[in-house]
Amino acid sequence: MSLLQLNPPQRAAIMSLDGPLLVLAGAGSGKTRVITQKIEYLIREGGYDARNIAAITFTNKAAREMLERVGKLMSSRELKGITVSTFHSLGMQLLRQEAPHLGYKPQFSILDSYDAAKIISDVLKTTHKDEVRKVQSRISLWKNELLGPDAAIVQADNEFDRICAMTYASYQATLTAYQAMDFDDLIRFPVELFLGNAEVLQKWQHKLRYLLIDEYQDTNTCQYQLVKLLTGARGMFTAVGDDDQSIYAWRGANMENLRLLQHDFPKLKVIKLEQNYRSTARILRAANSVIANNPKLFEKQLWSELGLGEPIHVVQCKDEEHEADVVVQRLLAHKFEHRTEFKDYAILYRGNYQARIFEQALRNQRIPYQMAGGQSFFDKPEIKDVLSYLRLIANPDDDPAFIRALTTPKRGVGATTLERLGAWAGQRGNSLFAAAHEEGFQQQVGAAQLAPLQDFCRFIVNLEYRATREPAGELVMEMLKAVGFEAWLYDSEDSQRAAEVKWKNVMDLVAWLQKKGEADGKNLIELSQTIALITMLEGRDEGEVDAVKMSTLHASKGLEYPHVFLIGCEEGILPHSESVDNGMVEEERRLMYVGITRAQRSLTLTYCVKRRRAGEWLFVEPSRFIGEINGDDIRHFGKPGAEPIVSKREGKSKLASLMASLDSKVQKPEE
Ligand code: ATP
Ligand code: MG
Repeated sequence: MSLLQLNPPQRAAIMSLDGPLLVLAGAGSGKTRVITQKIEYLIREGGYDARNIAAITFTNKAAREMLERVGKLMSSRELKGITVSTFHSLGMQLLRQEAPHLGYKPQFSILDSYDAAKIISDVLKTTHKDEVRKVQSRISLWKNELLGPDAAIVQADNEFDRICAMTYASYQATLTAYQAMDFDDLIRFPVELFLGNAEVLQKWQHKLRYLLIDEYQDTNTCQYQLVKLLTGARGMFTAVGDDDQSIYAWRGANMENLRLLQHDFPKLKVIKLEQNYRSTARILRAANSVIANNPKLFEKQLWSELGLGEPIHVVQCKDEEHEADVVVQRLLAHKFEHRTEFKDYAILYRGNYQARIFEQALRNQRIPYQMAGGQSFFDKPEIKDVLSYLRLIANPDDDPAFIRALTTPKRGVGATTLERLGAWAGQRGNSLFAAAHEEGFQQQVGAAQLAPLQDFCRFIVNLEYRATREPAGELVMEMLKAVGFEAWLYDSEDSQRAAEVKWKNVMDLVAWLQKKGEADGKNLIELSQTIALITMLEGRDEGEVDAVKMSTLHASKGLEYPHVFLIGCEEGILPHSESVDNGMVEEERRLMYVGITRAQRSLTLTYCVKRRRAGEWLFVEPSRFIGEINGDDIRHFGKPGAEPIVSKREGKSKLASLMASLDSKVQKPEE
């Protein structure tokens, strides 16, 4: 590569190696590019060994992409030992080595938010999902502020907080008993460890000598502390971010961290990037005019050399079904007209529930699509069933995994035996697995009841032994055969077809384990921890195929697509009604800004006139954010007095485009 391909402030950011640096710049200005190229500069010019560099990004996908991009600049030998990961996987890497300092074993389990919610609902003795979710996010916020259960109890000054704090205490005790951590712990525990153990801190400061952090605006207090502790007084880091794209306040992200950086590192150098390399001028103007309605934390100007571009298309639809049809129709027409590919398009939305109807419409037209930020592959019940075995093999004290594995398929252990086991474990403060081995418990149940339980434990212990010695994929395949998983699926599913689909998913998992195990040299136990992290922010990476991308706005952060459809631009959806009620419109506006700035060449915003909510039709208003875009940059469709939704030309090409989607060789008709 050459630094010549960069503009002067980008070059300055890359070459600045003598202290803390913040690159503060708007969307598409090449912040992430600065990080990738700086990694190369650090190694080739700065005298850093790759082992001493950590680049931290926000999602696994972003981390993968970054590693790929750097991989194009340098050989794998030069990059050997580099850390490119999310905060959570950095935390996991650290804890795998240091967990014993915290009273955990290195193969601790990582609970996903579903399992965590289950524990909270047991503590609260309620199955009311909303209540559980509220308590869970309160606990999460405390964790992200580095407050333990005791501190939370002291701080709680209202009834709700008091209930949450008490729940927090029992929840945490349960996690400890399970030798399990939740996602927040993966960052909180390293910080606590560093604060209490100077030796361990020094070891890691010595290992990770240069940090690069992408999407810095979305770090929370805890993540910020981790950065601060790791970089220490030397402050050797580059953070890049955009305050206008801070969209994770609900998860404790704190924009004030941008200001804090200046306070905590008086030598902080700040570089601004102002040229946007992603979008046309009109798209950029729309983004700028929307975000101008938020108070400014830092002054920024963005400009682009990519030409004026098409106006933003704003389409009024009758209802949500119509909206899905319109988008699919326009997408096909556009694709045909511009000779593009499916992967050039993205459909973005505020909430996952909006996607379903679009999936149907895409399927009807046989348009391939990929979902991000939706239900992950690893969240499918049959996959979680298999994963419960893996978790248990890694950590036999993981009680939720124990119950799930023991009962899927059922292994002849009766409900009474399980209840006795649970009671015994509870009294002794032990895990179920440990309790099963204790004489006191064994004496309570008859030999016939005990046998299947003991068989199961032996089965797990045997797998545990082999897990570090044999290839992951083969071992799991053998395990599935031994427990009769396939036959069980066919017995328990209503239809043959459903069972087939599930079994195929399980086979995909086995293939994935095999491939990943070989590629990364990881054994089954290590893979099982990796999976826990993948499930947190997105699904399995399915590689680059020619498919329309569907994503929530949150999951689209940092990415770019030539043509974007941003759907459901309505009051109540974007901005979300809950946010409006809670005075969080500014955060919603930043979300809109993120959405607009994903688009490179064309942007279409859609809204409906009415929408079904809880079985009733409601009339809805277009989003206030549409009104914030300069009218000259908009072309309206579908509204009285505006252009029809599908112009004659587009209508004519619809049929042809359908054919084109089936046969790419069809020639464009004369116009
Ligand atoms: P976001 O805020 O959305 O994360 P960003 O600031 O990280 O955006 P990048 O993704 O790094 O921006 O860059 C946006 C696009 O501009 C990318 O396609 C990138 O390759 C391109 N780009 C960045 N810098 C330059 C440059 N100096 N010359 C040409 N293209 C560039
Ligand atoms: Mg970026």
